Amino acid sequence: MATWVGLDELPPHPCPITLCARDNLPGKWLMCPAHWRICPRDAQRAVNHALDAYGVGSAELRRAQIEAIQAVNLRLSRTEFPHA
Ligand SMILES: [Zn+2]
Repeated sequence: MATWVGLDELPPHPCPITLCARDNLPGKWLMCPAHWRICPRDAQRAVNHALDAYGVGSAELRRAQIEAIQAVNLRLSRTEFPHA
């Protein structure tokens, strides 16, 4: 039996992007707005889809989130974008 946790019940957390100093993000945000903006559209869509289809705490959502974080870190490591 799955325990449903609403997005608004998630605790505040730091931005997971490497070297990002932003903390106390609302639980429903995966990363800070500056980093979400440079997250590839496909990865954003995958996160939102997993959220709708599988919900908070699902392996599918976790996988989509990790891929989105890795995509942003990769972009930053290529210095296409400055660290926010
Ligand atoms: Zn950030």
